[in-house]
Amino acid sequence: MSTIKAPRGVRDILPDESWKWSYVLDKAKDIAEIFGYREIHLPVFEHTELFSRGIGETTDVVEKEMYTFQDRSERSLTLRPEATASMVRAYNQNKFSNQHQPVKLWCYGPMFRYERPQKGRYRQFWQLDFESLGSDHPFVDVEVIKLALDLYSHLGLSNLDVLVNSVGCPQCRPAYKEKLKDYFRADLDRLCDTCKTRFERNPLRILDCKKPQCREITEKAPDIYSSLCDDCREHFDKVIKGLKHLNIQYHLDKRLVRGLDYYTKTAFEILSGELGSQNAVCGGGRYDNLSDEVGGPHLPGVGFAAGLERIVLVMDQQKCSFGEKPGINVYIIAAQEETRIDAFSLMSELRSNDHVSADMDYMNRGMKAQFKAAVNKGASFVCILGEDEVSRGVVTVKNLETGEQDQVGRDKLVSFLEKENC
Ligand code: AMP
Repeated sequence: MSTIKAPRGVRDILPDESWKWSYVLDKAKDIAEIFGYREIHLPVFEHTELFSRGIGETTDVVEKEMYTFQDRSERSLTLRPEATASMVRAYNQNKFSNQHQPVKLWCYGPMFRYERPQKGRYRQFWQLDFESLGSDHPFVDVEVIKLALDLYSHLGLSNLDVLVNSVGCPQCRPAYKEKLKDYFRADLDRLCDTCKTRFERNPLRILDCKKPQCREITEKAPDIYSSLCDDCREHFDKVIKGLKHLNIQYHLDKRLVRGLDYYTKTAFEILSGELGSQNAVCGGGRYDNLSDEVGGPHLPGVGFAAGLERIVLVMDQQKCSFGEKPGINVYIIAAQEETRIDAFSLMSELRSNDHVSADMDYMNRGMKAQFKAAVNKGASFVCILGEDEVSRGVVTVKNLETGEQDQVGRDKLVSFLEKENC
């Protein structure tokens, strides 16, 4: 029988990497607090309709990428492919309209999409998601872009490119779609097969195609700016003004349309020069009609999602610091078999002091191997307990960094370790 492995595109985040994730999450928590975003935990699965109606029937995510299943009561449920639709659902369901507006929420967790796995792209991946719900003010759009950039700067990331565009609204977008179709009609034969099907159903998505032959055609495609209605134009101008006032460097990208249909007005992405084709470290925008699409009241909102795996990848590539790699303070070594029980109780005693972490051997290793294990565990100190130490009520303490060794009374051990900045 072959051993069972994790499904394709799904991976374990091992201890050698998970401490880096904790570092990023801690920074995200700090930034959320600074910007006044409160944490929310959302369910991992929802009614399929929430995503099919919210994200849009003709999007890649809904058409090809959802993990949808029937539960035992034959309800159609879907593992969340993203968090924004759930945020809006939670806002409406929990009557957040009664709270001070806008309601600013953030969450993190795994998302699920049936995509072709490659570096930086997985079928289960983690996102940090920040959403501001209830205000249509353009400065909120600027706030979320600034939040993302401040997060990245707290993490030490550099070489990032902010791309901004407007995707209009249901009032002005249809005219722009027609303009695009007029432009693409002449080159329809040269578009890739997927874009040929997008031509009628969702021509904006052609702009997003990464295939070289389509990129060549979309390069000269008309931009949306002259098609925007007064409301969208005014909004876009104010977003740009806000970005300039906050000294945020950005590029206008007329081809930025994002893969999810719910966006209205502002769309943005932040790219890293370090990553290859999967170079977006976050993407977001405004979605003033998402709540209406899922049967809720009108609710303007704007936010972004950032891929945790990609952040860690770029931080590794840019050699950013993740803080100190976690190790234990003290490894207790039993010099003889008889003193193992004393080592065990000393370890327990040390652990009961909040700030001392301690560990010992459970594999009946000899002295030498226990020393090796201490180094392996990243211990700062070893405490050696032999029969002599036990009978005299002392512990031999060795600083593994300096090699210094002392004998310390057992009752003075904690204060000694504290003095040593353990
Ligand atoms: P989206 O929800 O598609 O707007 O994506 C937002 C961000 O999530 C992207 O910029 C990526 O950083 C990340 N992301 C999206 N899809 C994946 C995936 N399949 N694997 C890893 N990260 C992803």
